[in-house]
Amino acid sequence: MKIKAIHVYAHELPVKNGPYRMANALVYKLDTTLVQVITDTGHVGWGETCPVGPTYQPHHALGARAALAEMAPGLIGAALHPVSLRRKMDSLLNGHRYAKAALDIAAHDAIGKATGLRVAELLGGIATANVPSYYASGVGAPDEIARIAAEKMAEGYPRMQVKIGGRPVEEDIAVLRKVWEVIRGSGMRLAADGNRGLPTRDALRLSRECPDIPFILEQPCNSLEELAAIRPQLHHGLYMDENGEDLATVIRAVGQGLVDGFGMKVTRIGGLQQMATFRDICEARSLPHTCDDAWGGDIIHAACTHIGATVSPRLNEGVWLAAPYVEGHYDPKNGPEIIGGHIKLPEGPGLGVVPEDGLFGNPILSVE
Ligand SMILES: [Mg+2]
Repeated sequence: MKIKAIHVYAHELPVKNGPYRMANALVYKLDTTLVQVITDTGHVGWGETCPVGPTYQPHHALGARAALAEMAPGLIGAALHPVSLRRKMDSLLNGHRYAKAALDIAAHDAIGKATGLRVAELLGGIATANVPSYYASGVGAPDEIARIAAEKMAEGYPRMQVKIGGRPVEEDIAVLRKVWEVIRGSGMRLAADGNRGLPTRDALRLSRECPDIPFILEQPCNSLEELAAIRPQLHHGLYMDENGEDLATVIRAVGQGLVDGFGMKVTRIGGLQQMATFRDICEARSLPHTCDDAWGGDIIHAACTHIGATVSPRLNEGVWLAAPYVEGHYDPKNGPEIIGGHIKLPEGPGLGVVPEDGLFGNPILSVE
């Protein structure tokens, strides 16, 4: 099966009850990029990449489109096998894994559609069709975050992630104490995510003053070097998220025993093929991890749910989707949703999600 045509679409996704507040931006709407790959056998695959604004990671919507425009002409006639496609894309453009991810996801979707297999089956097999999710709170006051934790625990979420950082560390400590009072004994797991925002001084103090609360500390500080510096003094498991930019960094972190697990995003690592390799590296060292999206709509949500369905249950820290924050579905019948803290794996072949005809208007780029 070979690539016959590539169409790229731009689509605006309104944020529900917006704006979504981030450390350095207010997000009212998202500018997502969809890729449609047509094969020489007449099968169609969809992919998506949607940075949450231009400052969260070194990714932006126009950058994704420029990268796709650079690669697309060279991909016509290329074999649609995930590993050879990745090599081909790397031969056409250095880096830009978040743009390559959209083509990788479309390839998996098309192969699934052609073979009648679900993407999770192509990625190694379904370990669970009811994929756990987790709830991520914003940075907030102790009572407010504890109220949200109680609500999400009652809904059935197996894990709660509390955002910390960007304020006096005493407030973060107070939030974690209050949340733990609420969820203690329930089995709900707890993560404290600093999104790179804490000085090492504060990360060390947070851990030192909460030795009795079994949270994991996710990406508290900005760099790999800072994580390595605080690592020997922590009382808590340490996870890497934003610093895990590629497999080479993951291998370094795992090999040097720098981390106890990962938050990982499908588009950041370069798509489902790279994500499956990441999953296997983690499993070889019994390291738990998430399978998150960037932002976006049904296509990226389905991709994350499929890889999340293949993770060994004892290591599965869940799939975070932007679905609760985004208005509308591309596929109203099959678009993934979080219900009871879990996501049902779509049932159809490929991603199991097919956008409504004409929903994205005319392509902004077509190559055939
Ligand atoms: Mg994180």
